Parts: sequence; C-alpha cells; structure tokens
Amino acid sequence: MNIGVLALQGDVREHLSALAESDVLARPVRRPEELAGVDGLVIPGGESTAISNLAVSFGLLDPIRKRIADGMPVYGSCAGMIMLAGTVLDGRPDQESFQGIDMTVRRNAFGRQVDSFEAPVEIEDIEGGPFHAVFIRAPWVEETGRDVRVLGRVAEGDAAGRIVAVRQGNLLATAFHPELTGDLRVHRYFVEMVRQAL
Ligand code: GLN
Repeated sequence: MNIGVLALQGDVREHLSALAESDVLARPVRRPEELAGVDGLVIPGGESTAISNLAVSFGLLDPIRKRIADGMPVYGSCAGMIMLAGTVLDGRPDQESFQGIDMTVRRNAFGRQVDSFEAPVEIEDIEGGPFHAVFIRAPWVEETGRDVRVLGRVAEGDAAGRIVAVRQGNLLATAFHPELTGDLRVHRYFVEMVRQAL
C-alpha cells in the first residue's frame, strides 16, 4: 500500500511520522507522477491559500480532483479539510479547493482572539474515548450535504456542537490535528480506509 502526503506546504513531516508509526511507509507527493503512484493521500494542516496556490503551480489541482472523483481515499486535517470542501467561506477570492466533500467550511472560524485551543472530541467509528483535539486557526463545518456523515463535534465550551470531523465515501476530514498529539487512531482509521479501497 502506498500512501502519499501532499508536500507543498504545512505539517508534512508530522503526518509522515504518524503514518510511519501506523506501520505505513508514506511518501511525500509534490508532482503529478508521484500522485499517480499512491493509493491514498493525506493533505496536511498548514495554510490552505498557500496549498491552493502551490497546487495550481505544481500542476496538481486537476490531477488530485480527478483522483478524488475516481474514488482515491483522502484524509485532510485542518487546512486539508478546507482543501476538500465544496464551498469555502472567508477564503481568498482566488482560493481553489480539490472539492470532494459536499460541505461548507468557514476558515479561521473559531475566532481571531482564540488562535488555538484544545478540546475533547468523540469520533463516531473510532473507539477508545474522546480525542484530545488540537485546533490551530481551525475551520469548522457549517453545512453538510446529504451524503456527508458527521463523525465528530466539539463537546464543550463556546464552540460546543460545532462539526469538526466528517466523512463522505472515501474522503475523511478533521478540523483538528491528530498528527500533533501522538494519538494514531485517525491515521490508523484512514489506513484501513485505504486498505479497503485497494
Ligand atoms: N487557517 C488555516 C487555513 O485557512 C488552517 C490552519 C491549520 O491548518 N492549522 O488554511
């Protein structure tokens, strides 16, 4: 099984390590030829406007859209969630996404004064108790289409009830960063999605 991590910008290394700890030798993807060799792709956290710009200049926007349309499993964390959204609110006017998940996300939704915070989040499908979820200038999901399953919401605090984890078919997205906490359950869940799609 070959899993790639989109390596244009963001916390690529953290995702590569989380996958390595999940017993998968993942590789960075920067070029269309590298994309062609992977069975699944992780889109890291970072800055979605930068990832969008670089995806256009590296010729990856359309090839990734096409692989998504063909059913390739993709997991996006934070900026990666934004890159999978059909509609992005508070984005830059020229910001592109890979599409795929029928949802509307709002960038930097948790408020400017709260740059980052941590909160427990239960993820449907993943056992073992709530995630200690780390949010950094994170988006949330404001609307989901009929085919989108809501997997997780913020459990407590001002943002309680906000949708922060979703799945639609082979696409998985979290507004938080499991790659920063050493909790491998989301990565292992994604690896299983890729295995099942082989
Ligand atoms: N605010 C960033 C964006 O809009 C996402 C932040 C992150 O990935 N931690 O892309």
